[in-house]
Amino acid sequence: MRLALFGHGRLGVIDGDELVDVTEQLAGPGPYGPAGPLHRHIEQLAAGKVHQPDLTTAPRTPLPGTALEAPLPLPGKIVGAPVNYLDHKAEMEYTTSVAELGVFLKANSSVIGPGQDIVLPYDDKRTDQEGELGVVIGRTASHVTADEALSYVFGYTCLLDITVRSDEDRSTRKSFDTFTPIGPWIVTADEIPDPDALDLRCDVGGTTRQRTNTADLIFGVRELIAYTSSVMTLYPGDVIATGTPAGVGPLGHGDRVVVDIERVGRLEVGVDASRATPYGRRPGRRPAPTPPN
Ligand code: MN
Repeated sequence: MRLALFGHGRLGVIDGDELVDVTEQLAGPGPYGPAGPLHRHIEQLAAGKVHQPDLTTAPRTPLPGTALEAPLPLPGKIVGAPVNYLDHKAEMEYTTSVAELGVFLKANSSVIGPGQDIVLPYDDKRTDQEGELGVVIGRTASHVTADEALSYVFGYTCLLDITVRSDEDRSTRKSFDTFTPIGPWIVTADEIPDPDALDLRCDVGGTTRQRTNTADLIFGVRELIAYTSSVMTLYPGDVIATGTPAGVGPLGHGDRVVVDIERVGRLEVGVDASRATPYGRRPGRRPAPTPPN
């Protein structure tokens, strides 16, 4: 199943070129809060409440022309894998990879959906695209083995891990509002027999910058879940950004960014630099003390 949000927080299953509204069928009665009805559905599935949607009677909307929203607008947490492809390690001249660095966290408030804009914070620091496979956790995972890890996955999505190239901590550089576009939908895990064998492409401004297969991940999806769950409990609806291959590069105002992943989908967002300010003028530092008279 491909599950999307539309119409200000309605949950739809994609059936051909139509969206079938299964909000109450899959998520139960609302309200669903800022995490939305798909998050509620994943939690209910984890709690053993299985819903088989009846698509015959539910309202239908044509998919073309319907604006899709972030399928998980406020995940519980977003875990990122730093330096998880050897070619990206080489291009950044890093000496370490995910194996030494472990994982990092991105703010869950950084999510946007298809068609929205990445907002660039600084006009004198590079902000790069990182096209990645996103993994959505389906049930509570703590200290799970790599062999059993895929049974904890609800589904997969296209994800951009947008990153400022500054000296700030990773969790800061990757957590600006709008810095985690996801979508356009979640594909349930039953449609992806092996997440470590998917072609991934990322285009910026019509030019392909990144092209890989998830077979080249240093920590594959299984190992990432096993490792992460040895550090922190993963909950239904948590998202893992699996890492980016070589080809990261700066974004500019008006760019269109596309991530296309085999069997998963195609996510497209824009870039807005109209509010970017100089890095040196970012707020928060104490003014210099005034000398005594
Ligand atoms: Mn990344």
